[in-house]
Amino acid sequence: MWERRSPERNPQQASERREETMEKAEIGLIGLGTMGSNLALNIAEHGHRIAVFNRTPSRTDAFVESAGSLKDMVVPCYGLEELAAAIRPPRPIIIMVLAGKPVDEQIAALRGVLSDNDIVIDAGNANFRDTMRRFSELSGSGLTFIGMGVSGGEEGARHGPSIMVGGTEESWKRVEKVLTAISAKFKGEPCAAWLGHDGAGHFVKTIHNGIEYADMQMIAEIYGILRDGLGMAPKEIGKVFEEWNKGRLNSYLIEITAKVLAADDPKTGKPVVDIILDRAGQKGTGKWSVIEAQQLGIPATAIEAAVAARVLSSLKDERQAAEKAYGDMGVEKISGDKAALLKDLELALFAGKIAAYAQGFAVMSGASKEFNWNLPMPTIAKIWRAGCIIRSQMLDTMAEAFGSGGASTNLLMAPAFIAMMKEAHPSLRRIVARASEAGSPVPALSSALAYFDSYRQGRGTSNLIQAQRDFFGAHGFERIGEQGAFHGPWGSGAGH
Ligand code: NDP
Repeated sequence: MWERRSPERNPQQASERREETMEKAEIGLIGLGTMGSNLALNIAEHGHRIAVFNRTPSRTDAFVESAGSLKDMVVPCYGLEELAAAIRPPRPIIIMVLAGKPVDEQIAALRGVLSDNDIVIDAGNANFRDTMRRFSELSGSGLTFIGMGVSGGEEGARHGPSIMVGGTEESWKRVEKVLTAISAKFKGEPCAAWLGHDGAGHFVKTIHNGIEYADMQMIAEIYGILRDGLGMAPKEIGKVFEEWNKGRLNSYLIEITAKVLAADDPKTGKPVVDIILDRAGQKGTGKWSVIEAQQLGIPATAIEAAVAARVLSSLKDERQAAEKAYGDMGVEKISGDKAALLKDLELALFAGKIAAYAQGFAVMSGASKEFNWNLPMPTIAKIWRAGCIIRSQMLDTMAEAFGSGGASTNLLMAPAFIAMMKEAHPSLRRIVARASEAGSPVPALSSALAYFDSYRQGRGTSNLIQAQRDFFGAHGFERIGEQGAFHGPWGSGAGH
């Protein structure tokens, strides 16, 4: 249905008229939904004439109407041929439609109207495996494919997102100017970069979202402790987050949490958070992060816990039935010095967040080796410092840690982060313990703590697991300080 056209318009005549009267556009964009329309305005505002097309023509009309003073920089098109004719070759065309099949349909349709050297850029939240497939399907066709992760939501798309590009370096060079111009800037540095071949950009965007899941879940867990354990009202909790945003937790997500908690519902006058159903949605990137982490054999427990928490949140009816079955145990009040408790909560969130980022970066490092991407970790941390949803002050310190090589094994091994974790982990430990005793669920924070505790233990407990495996399955084990495979003296009852 993508070629539905405005009946009153003749695309051929329109494009001929345009050829005569108008300067050609430098770039094209398909899909004028929330992200596409804002990205198009952002591109136009930076002085790049843009041709746009949307499956539903009325949306194109509405977009042009809303473009205001940027109207002259926008070329509305009502068919793909018209779109191709409106752009100066070689044409870069951004696709910003629903991820999945619609992207394949658009690419197939574009193949009929584009020419050699044109670049098709998928800017939606694609699964990086689809991006790799599309990249190889288009190679040799004359067209070039770029898979581009964009983060920052509506506001970011309009005024400066973080842009993660995957494709050939040559294709990046051809679009670098416009992409860096429209991206967010951190102290003047653009938050847009080429990260590697084929699916690299979409993979990094996926992990960005996985970290975002963990970050949001941990904030919600702290909110739960403040609300149920300390009995605080939304506005009071909002003030706490507002304060924290001035310190080490300074980040976009903490900033918006404070704002969300301060807002009232115009209909009831109650705090907005109190009238929202406790059921969170998800579109797939969190789940993909977890699946890929498992495939690569890299622990990403805080991200896994966050994805699972969203799934549990969606089981509203089951949870209500369980509350009846177990009796409304609620959450016990947490007593003690409130100022000290708030300090602990702030540091606990800080430590949990570091562990979640360490996991996300470790997954990217594993994928980089697996797919030969050579992902530039310092650059990734740098382009996440502004524009994207997880932007935070801490990412600047991470960029330094990766840049100096201190985090090459794991972020938790970078000297700056060792110091931070040494200071903050006792608070995470106390908060996880107190929340668990009180009955306030903290799945992401406790997973982060368990990851940290397992990671920092020179001698863990899997010696016992190896013994068990050898007992029932004759899998053998390694002896400390000796080469070779050994079996235990298990005697009768052993499986081998
Ligand atoms: P919207 O729902 O606002 O818009 C969807 C767009 O896709 C519309 O232009 C729609 O056209 C088009 N579309 C849907 N199905 C088809 C199809 N079968 N053929 C052609 N066009 C189709 O989505 P968003 O702008 O929010 O998201 C677009 C992409 O960006 C998605 O991949 C999303 O995951 C990603 N993204 C979204 C972010 C956000 O914060 N919203 C952030 C980062 C990435 P029509 O008007 O005809 O329905």
